Amino acid sequence: MAFIPYGRQNISDADIQAVIEILKSPFITQGPTVPIFEKSISNYVNSTYSVAVNSATSALHIACLALDLGPEDSLWTSPITFVASANCALYCGAKVDFVDIDINTGLLDINLLKEKLTKARRDNLLPKVIVPVHYAGSSCNMKEIYALSKEFGFKILEDASHAIGGKLYGEPVGNCKYSDICVFSFHPVKIITTAEGGVASTNNSYLARKMYELRSHGITKDPKFFKNLPSKPWSYEQQSLGFNYRLTDIQAALGISQMQNLDKFVSERNRLWKLYKEKIEGLPISMLNIPQDVISSLHLAVVLINNCDPIKHQLIFSKLREVNIGVQVHYIPVHLQPFYKSIGFKKGYLPNAERFAESVISLPLFPGLNEKEQDYVVSELSKLL
Ligand SMILES: *Cc1c(COP(=O)(O)O)cnc(C)c1O
Repeated sequence: MAFIPYGRQNISDADIQAVIEILKSPFITQGPTVPIFEKSISNYVNSTYSVAVNSATSALHIACLALDLGPEDSLWTSPITFVASANCALYCGAKVDFVDIDINTGLLDINLLKEKLTKARRDNLLPKVIVPVHYAGSSCNMKEIYALSKEFGFKILEDASHAIGGKLYGEPVGNCKYSDICVFSFHPVKIITTAEGGVASTNNSYLARKMYELRSHGITKDPKFFKNLPSKPWSYEQQSLGFNYRLTDIQAALGISQMQNLDKFVSERNRLWKLYKEKIEGLPISMLNIPQDVISSLHLAVVLINNCDPIKHQLIFSKLREVNIGVQVHYIPVHLQPFYKSIGFKKGYLPNAERFAESVISLPLFPGLNEKEQDYVVSELSKLL
């Protein structure tokens, strides 16, 4: 069997054609196609504004800056995520801390969050921003997190890098009904792709304007906001210290075309997940639990090996890789990365996350995976178990 990765992009002829069109047009960097892509995201997720940037990492960074996160502040997130969910705090000079997960869902544990907030209020150490991570395409319980944000006074930045196309309470993830900003990633392993790329979605016009400015060097070209008056016909103003985080029209065209297939991708991922469920039945494995109010985009097919230990975990992982099955571990807990250890985090700090990471494996899951490949994955897995 040829190597089966855990995830892979799905590029159609229409996608390729859309990119070629842009290459033949006057604009190849950020031009008229980027706003069309932004509109298609906002229409889909039902948000007012979308700010397209060159990665979700950049989106998280400018989102934190727009939320005014700075050196006096702290940001809390989940340890079971990609490092970018935490790094964005450090880019702003803020402190980062983690809230442990619910081991059945891989999501931030709301009760532990509540406890930690209560304690932080006593110690006068409440966070300014909390980043719930919609792990594997699922969704955190946003109503509860929103209620806590009102009680404890923090901002909410959803990391929905895995979750475009997912639903919560029957509504699209990213509508920002219970958050300030929601970020998506379009890296090729995610649900749709622009090669590299990301979007920050919001309903708040001030936050949107801040983020549009920050992605382009902190420059505004809108005379309405000029400070050096009277302005000249050629005026543009740098009003903050921004970056070049722009998406190109080439990528935006790919994104617009990919959006046409988003619902198809998500339903195919759900179909494949259900098939895994049937095929795995009876094996000493638990499938990740998806909360009742959630329709997952199923970015990852996460399973947990029952009665696992680190040695068994590593053995199963390595043996699957040996037979060309591109399993992955999502994730090594962020606080155990050498960099995070160097700033003071220690093993034992987040026991649920650490235990989760010692039994978790992502099986291959992407549109285009066929049933023969799935059968092969399950049969190799059952041999090992
Ligand atoms: C992929 C990912 C990111 C970063 O996305 P990029 O577009 O690669 O910068 C951030 N958070 C999570 C949870 C991710 O999976």
